[in-house]
Amino acid sequence: MTWFEDLSPCDYHRHPALAPLAVGWLEADHPFETGDVDARTVQQLFELLRDPWQPSLFLGWHDCSMCGGEGPSHVELAGEQVAIGTRNLFVPDLQHACVYIAPSMILHYVRDHHYAPPERFLAAVRACPPMGSTAYAQAMKRAATGP
Ligand SMILES: [Zn+2]
Repeated sequence: MTWFEDLSPCDYHRHPALAPLAVGWLEADHPFETGDVDARTVQQLFELLRDPWQPSLFLGWHDCSMCGGEGPSHVELAGEQVAIGTRNLFVPDLQHACVYIAPSMILHYVRDHHYAPPERFLAAVRACPPMGSTAYAQAMKRAATGP
């Protein structure tokens, strides 16, 4: 997996149209912010990761270097599971006119490694329309092209 500092430009997936900012690209040898993320935001992150929109093909497995080995392949919340490790999450932020790209592993980092993503990302997660909705597609377009 690749390390990016939070909110740094992420060219990993070569999306010039989206110019996404990286969030949650953690590696064990880089320190990261820790803290509590409220349950509602974690739930929303979980919902978005059920079937996240993907602009490109499968680009490889992300493992968790804090766990050693591969790390978990699922996160369970209230008896339900989402698969993590292969997909990325794109979150539009209309307030800052940008798009965030987070590995699906971010849900595991928040729940099991006490990772605290930047507040502006969490706010964008809470405001994110449901995956697959027209509102999501419109928000992505507006966030990527700016005001
Ligand atoms: Zn881990």
